[in-house]
Amino acid sequence: MMVDLKALNSRINIEVLLNMIGYNGERKRQGKDLRIRCTIHKSDNQTSMAIDTVNNIFYCHNCGAKGDLIQLYTDSTGIAGQAVAIERIRIIDEGKVA
Ligand SMILES: [Zn+2]
Repeated sequence: MMVDLKALNSRINIEVLLNMIGYNGERKRQGKDLRIRCTIHKSDNQTSMAIDTVNNIFYCHNCGAKGDLIQLYTDSTGIAGQAVAIERIRIIDEGKVA
């Protein structure tokens, strides 16, 4: 079955995704951006990562990690099989899991 990754990525709620990966740092709103502690290199800088919540892409100003929210999920959790991550995100996205 083909999964339209771009369409799926655009439907992900970043707040839900952060909860999913167990993020417990600060969440600062700056216009359309959400600034958080990098969930990939895990620095102490509470605003190192900027997430564009309109386009659902992220960029870390410290380690340079960037990509879409599916990428953020797979890189943050270390899940090797992207298909598994996509399926989990889809389940959350569709509200089948609390
Ligand atoms: Zn980083």
